[in-house]
Amino acid sequence: MYTNSRDEEVKFLKRLWTSQPTICPKCNRAELVHLHKKAKKSDCDWKCPECGEIYRTINMLKELPIK
Ligand SMILES: [Zn+2]
Repeated sequence: MYTNSRDEEVKFLKRLWTSQPTICPKCNRAELVHLHKKAKKSDCDWKCPECGEIYRTINMLKELPIK
């Protein structure tokens, strides 16, 4: 996970899915951008332009701890 709790992680995922401006939780220096700018189908993948961290929301969802 990239945040401190399951709830925070879910909020983070929801922000990405709704394409809200979201600061990279790893470096806190930049807003995340789409990993594939032209591919409309894969807009669930995001990247931090500062530290290069890649966020794949589908994988993040799978790795969420069970409550
Ligand atoms: Zn970053």
